[in-house]
Amino acid sequence: MANTSLDYDAIVIGGGPAGLQATLTLGRVHRRVLMLDSGSYRNAPASHMHNVLTHDGTPPPQFRAAARAELTAYDTVTVRDAEATAVRRRDDDVLVVEADGEELTARGVVLATGVRDTLPDKPGLTELFGDVVAHCPFCHGHEYAGGHVAVLGNQAAGHLPGILAPVASRITVLTDGAELEAELAPGVAVRTEPVTGVCRGPAGARVSFADGPDEDVAGLYVVTSFAQSAPFAEQLGLEMLPSGCIRIDAMGRTSVPGVHAAGDLAHHPELPMPMASVLTAAAAGQVAAASLVATRLLD
Ligand SMILES: Cc1cc2nc3c(=O)[nH]c(=O)nc-3n(C[C@H](O)[C@H](O)[C@H](O)COP(=O)(O)OP(=O)(O)OC[C@H]3O[C@@H](n4cnc5c(N)ncnc54)[C@H](O)[C@@H]3O)c2cc1C
Repeated sequence: MANTSLDYDAIVIGGGPAGLQATLTLGRVHRRVLMLDSGSYRNAPASHMHNVLTHDGTPPPQFRAAARAELTAYDTVTVRDAEATAVRRRDDDVLVVEADGEELTARGVVLATGVRDTLPDKPGLTELFGDVVAHCPFCHGHEYAGGHVAVLGNQAAGHLPGILAPVASRITVLTDGAELEAELAPGVAVRTEPVTGVCRGPAGARVSFADGPDEDVAGLYVVTSFAQSAPFAEQLGLEMLPSGCIRIDAMGRTSVPGVHAAGDLAHHPELPMPMASVLTAAAAGQVAAASLVATRLLD
C-alpha cells in the first residue's frame, strides 16, 4: 500500500489521554497522523484529577492543553476539533474515517473515543458527580479523609468499604430499599431505606431517605453504568467483551486488522474489568500506537 496515496498513515479518534498519547507516539516516529477530537471527555464533571503522576490535582483541561501543546512540536501531526461520524474498512484494506462531511483515508486507525457514564437515577447525583459524589476511590477518596462516607447500592458494598477503611472515619452502606447482599466488616453501618435524593450539605453531601433522618457525608460513592461514546465498534463489527468494551489483545489490536483501540473503551480479557484511569488510558494509547507502527506502518 503506497504511503503517500492516502491522506494519513494513521487517524486517531479521540483527544483524551489515550488519543493524545497515541498521537504523540505516532508523531515521534514522523508518521502522518490526524487526531480528531469532538471535545467531550469522560472526566469533564471533575474539576481536578488525582492519582496521576506529576499531575496529581491538575484540572483535566490543563492536562489536555499541555499535551496538545507538546504535539505542536511534530510536523507530521494534525489535530482537528471535529467529530468523526463513521469508520469503515475498504476491500483494499484502507481505513476510511468520515468527519466534517469528508472521507479521510489511512492505513491504520486508533479508536480512543472512551465511554460515557449513566448515574443511578436519583435527584441531585448528576450535579454533584465528580465532586462529593464519586465512583472511584483512587480518583476521589483522599479528599474525604477523616469524614463519613457512604456507598450507594449493593454493587460496590462488598469491596468499597474495605478500600476506604483507612481513609474514612465512618462508612455507611445505603442499600436503597434492597436487602443487604454483601458481608460487611465490623463497624460498617447500613441503612436500607430507599434513597430519595442528594444535595450539597455542610459535610459535603446530604442524602435523604423515604424514612428516617438525612445522612450527612463527606463523599457518596455510586456505581455508574457505561456505554461506548461512539458507534465505531458496531460499525466495524468489532469483537466486544461482556463489560461492554472492545476486546483488545496485549498490543491494543482489535478483531479488525489495522484498527487498534486504547483507553476506557477497550478491555483486555485477562483483566477483571476495564482499568479506567488517565494513566492507564495514556499507557494503552502508547502501546496501541506503537503496535500500529510495528504491524502496519513500517515504511
Ligand atoms: C467524574 C470522573 C472523574 C475522574 N477522575 C479521575 C482521576 O482523578 N484520575 C484518573 O486517573 N482518572 C479519572 N477518571 C477516569 C478518566 O477520566 C478516564 O479513565 C480517562 O479519561 C479515559 O481516557 P480516554 O482517552 O479513554 O477517554 P476520554 O478522556 O473520555 O476521551 C475520549 C475522547 O474521544 C473523543 N470522542 C468521542 N467521540 C468522538 C467522535 N465521534 N469523534 C471524535 N472524537 C470523539 C472525545 O471528545 C474525547 O476527546 C475520572 C472519571 C470520571 C467519570
